[in-house]
This record gives sequence, C-alpha cells and structure tokens, in this order.
Amino acid sequence: MDIELHNTLTRKKEKFTPLQHGLFSKPTIGMYNCGPTVYNYAHIGNLRAYVFADTLKRLMKANGYKVKQVINITDVGHLTSEADSGEDKIEKASEREHKSAWDIAKFYTDAFFEDLTLLNIDTQGTKFPRATDYISEQIKIIKTLETKGFTYRTSDGIYFDTSKFPGYGKLGGLYGMGKDLKIDNQLNLSSRIGLDNEKRNQRDFALWKFSPKGEKRDMEWPSPWGVGFPGWHIECSAMSRALLGETFDIHTGGIDHIPTHHNNEIAQSEGSQGKPFVRYWMHNAFINIQGEKMAKSDENFITLQSVKEKGYSPLAYRYFLLGARYSTPLNFTWQALDGAANAYKKLITAVCELPLGGKVNKEIWNRALGFVADDLDTPKVLALCWDLLKDDKLSPADKKATIIKIDEMLGLKLGEKEDKIEIPENILKLVNERKNARDKKDWKKSDQLREQITKLGFEVKDTAEGQKIVSPSSPHVVNV
Ligand code: AMP
Ligand code: ZN
Repeated sequence: MDIELHNTLTRKKEKFTPLQHGLFSKPTIGMYNCGPTVYNYAHIGNLRAYVFADTLKRLMKANGYKVKQVINITDVGHLTSEADSGEDKIEKASEREHKSAWDIAKFYTDAFFEDLTLLNIDTQGTKFPRATDYISEQIKIIKTLETKGFTYRTSDGIYFDTSKFPGYGKLGGLYGMGKDLKIDNQLNLSSRIGLDNEKRNQRDFALWKFSPKGEKRDMEWPSPWGVGFPGWHIECSAMSRALLGETFDIHTGGIDHIPTHHNNEIAQSEGSQGKPFVRYWMHNAFINIQGEKMAKSDENFITLQSVKEKGYSPLAYRYFLLGARYSTPLNFTWQALDGAANAYKKLITAVCELPLGGKVNKEIWNRALGFVADDLDTPKVLALCWDLLKDDKLSPADKKATIIKIDEMLGLKLGEKEDKIEIPENILKLVNERKNARDKKDWKKSDQLREQITKLGFEVKDTAEGQKIVSPSSPHVVNV
C-alpha cells in the first residue's frame, strides 16, 4: 500500500519511498525524533510529539518495514534563549533544585521513560542517545565545518555563518537564499534589543559555547577551541549521523522546531557532509491550553502524572490525541479529555465483551491501513472502529479480531481487560486500610472507606479474589 506523508521540506503530501531497497523483504527505515530537554517533566503537549512518532512507526511496521528509531535526550546545551544567550536550561534547573546537572538530567530522563510506557509507546529497539555521550562526534562535525569555512569565533563561542550555506532556512519555506536573510538582519537591526553584536547575521547560531569565565559548570568539556559545551542544534546532527548515517528517511518534531532548530540541523549536517540530510521532515501541531501553546516555561503545563492523579488512564489521553490528525492544533480542556475518556471506556468495554477466536476481516483492515497511510488520518480509523462494532455483516468474534489488529496501529490496548494503571498512593492507602478493616470485620469502617474512595473518583469492587479498583475514566480493572 502507498504511504503518503506531508513533507515540511516540500510543503506537499508525498508518496513515501524508502532510502534503502530490500531485495527480498521491505527495508529498514531510519527515523529520528527530536527528544526532550530533560530539565523538567514533559508536559502532555510534548508527549504529543512522541505519540505522533509512535503512530508513524506503527504504520511503517504494519506495512512490513522495520524501523530504526532514535529519540535523543538533550541533557546539555539547550539555552533559555533561542538566540544563544541566556542560561543552560539544565544548569538552571540544577540551581533551582539544588542538585547537580547530571542528577537533574537523570531524574527527568527517567520520568520521561515512565511517560512513554504509560502511553504505550513502542520502544522496542528504540535508541535513546544522550547528547553528553556524543561530545567527540559533535566536536568532529564542528571541525569539519571549520575546515570548510562555515564557522567563526566570537568572545563566547564558535558560530555557524548562515550566509555561507546556500538555501539556509529552506525548511518550511521560511527564508530563501540569502535575500530574506538580509531582510531578517535589517529587521533585527532596526530593533536592537537582544542583539548579539558579535554575530555576523542574527540567524547565525552557536556550535560550541565557552564556559563563562570564572564559572564552574557541572557539564563542560575540553575542545580545540576552549573548555565549554556544545550548542543544542549540533547535538541532533551528531547523534543522528552516529546512529542512522548521513542521510536517512524521516525526522520529526513539533512545529516550533521548524524555523530554528531544524533549519540549523540541516545547515550543519549538509554543510559538513556535502550531501542531503533527511528525506521527509514531519511536524506535529501544538497542544494548546486556553488558546496558548502549552509550554514548559509557562505555568499552564499539565503532566501525564496530573492526568493520572485525576483518575484518567494515560491511554484516554492517547485516545484524545488520536481523535485529531497530528497536524491539527488541539485545544486541551479537562472536559474534552473527559469526553475522550468516556468514548475510550465505551469502546474498550464493547471490545472486551466480544468473544475471541474470530478472523481479521481483510477488507476492513485494509481500509484502516489506508487511513493511517494517508498522512496518519487516525480520526478516520477511530470512526471505522465504531462503525465496525455496528456492522451486522460481521460476526462478533471477527469484529474483535479485526479491532485488535487495527489496534496494532492505534496502541490503545483495546484487547486488554486489565491495564497496568498505577493507582495513586492515597487511594492505595485507603484500599489497604479497608482491607484491614474487613479482615477485622469492621464493616462500618469498610463502608466509610469505600465512600471516601468513591469521592476521590475511584470505585472499589469486592470480588472472590479480593478488592479491585476501577478508575471512573478507564474501564480497566486493577487488582490490588
Ligand atoms: P522540548 O523538550 O521542549 O525540546 O520538546 C519536546 C518536543 O515537544 C519537541 O518535538 C517540541 O517541538 C514538542 N512540543 C513542545 N511544546 C509542544 C506543544 N505545546 N504541543 C505539541 N508539541 C510540543
Ligand atoms: Zn533535535
């Protein structure tokens, strides 16, 4: 089946053809997904980027491709200002939390992995390189760029001269060939606030930053230019090259990465290697909240933990995401999540009630595959699942088999009765207290505790195997 993807580079939906060609089987596709900067928890907006990449990976696998996936961990060099000034986000968090930069990075990397598991992201075979493990690879690329005349030195670092790279800014068609760059400079020059006067063009960016004089950073390394740390953009160029090669198939990220981060990656990678970098660039739209982009630096951010604490299954959030195409902006409200959670609960309950032992209906499976292959039209697949349940021509067992097959692309665990939802600590405590009360045959206390648990949004069921908890927004019953 043909796969059509919207390529930010050409600004068109294009037929996907892999870089490599398998002789007897479909080839392996190289895919790089810009990963988190680990100075805080990922918010549910960030997590859209990984559910999107996961859907793409599942589509490729459903089409018989193997996928070599890389999600990097940015643990150094991402500054608070896009203009290469300001503090390193990780070092800043280390001051805030009185921990070393290394401990900060480790803590939030672990939290990120936990989020991926909760969202049922397929990490089989996925590589998660840390930028700090690829310092020598980054220095090597900067040296090549220096030899080729792309760099210059200022008092605080080594910079990439964007005017030396023909077509700088081509991604998203934002800036074309030099001319607009000049306009860009003029614009910046007319308002001199925040300008780095040492930069030749304001769009030039740091490849290597020197450690500030008299300041001891937790993370710094020697280099041919002086002790310091890499710029954020060079990290992705180096890690993708080390793990996927110079040219690879797909690179993704949120749309905020188009103007700067990804255009800079292209300039560094293509400038140093003299050949194309990425064939298909894809970008997810934002999760907004009250009409504003959800951002780590703002107060408005919601984590997956808070979604869970409110009693929602993380997979209800996945259902909410799949209800829109990755490229459509989505406004997050608790009410909207509630709607998605109810629909998800109904769907999973309906599937669970169907008998096993049926066969996948090929025609319906192909329709589902066709929808996802059409630039990941997941809303159509969800609608198809609902229609399928009402289809009188299909036997109940075949319905179940077909939906479970389709779920290989959706990742909603539609065939599983029990999800390993973590029940919040406070609920678990009450449930244990209730167990003790019941062991002592203190039924009054047991009933009071049940009420308390219900008020907190959970339901407790007494079964032959003991107590079970049901989250109101998820049909998944959890053993205690
Ligand atoms: P960061 O950790 O800030 O580098 O971001 C990780 C990923 O989340 C990147 O691909 C961003 O483009 C993406 N992203 C950031 N904010 C949002 C948002 N509000 N909605 C969707 N994606 C986002
Ligand atoms: Zn990146």
